[in-house]
Amino acid sequence: RGATPVPPEARTRLTVLSGPSGVGKSTVVAHLRKEHPDVWLSVSATTRRPRPGERHGVEYFFTEGEEFDKLIANGELLEWAEFAGNRYGTPRQAVLDRLAAGSPVLLEIDLQGARLVRESMPEARLVFLAPPSWDELVRRLTGRGTESPEVIERRLAAAREELAAEPEFDAKLVNTSVEDVSAELLALMNVE
Ligand code: 5GP
Repeated sequence: RGATPVPPEARTRLTVLSGPSGVGKSTVVAHLRKEHPDVWLSVSATTRRPRPGERHGVEYFFTEGEEFDKLIANGELLEWAEFAGNRYGTPRQAVLDRLAAGSPVLLEIDLQGARLVRESMPEARLVFLAPPSWDELVRRLTGRGTESPEVIERRLAAAREELAAEPEFDAKLVNTSVEDVSAELLALMNVE
């Protein structure tokens, strides 16, 4: 292990996109990345099982609990949090390397993770993605069809709390259309 020093001005290139589960963060990020592959998206480690179609190393590094314990113990995560019964974390070194190399870096993480990044890297830009309405969020979470009713209920409970955190963020975007939000996010990141 070795520390990569990241000057404060480089840390401002770090943008954190957060918001309630089901709000459409990953859809926005996928769209943005298609248009701007130069924006580097961190791939998180998670103890969650893959959903159909998800690939190891692409959507997530799917990790057993013991392996995740080791990542924590070795200080390899920039932040990590437990969400709806699973753990999720951002691999630290890859983010620091990309920032040091001058890339705009994007993290798509939950609210607890966003707060931890704020503590460790106050220069990072925190962006909150809000649903157009509560009903719309319920519709999206229910309509995904990949989760059990129990899991959906847990995610809705988390979402209710997460919506209240919006004032802690530097900017708020409302997910009315993927194209609009993606363009707004790029503008916040100063990516042409
Ligand atoms: P999902 O299971 O739907 O892929 O993700 C559940 C939640 O975990 C989402 O809000 C997602 O943004 C968040 N998440 C994904 N990766 C990370 C991470 O590395 N750290 C934290 N704190 N949250 C994450």
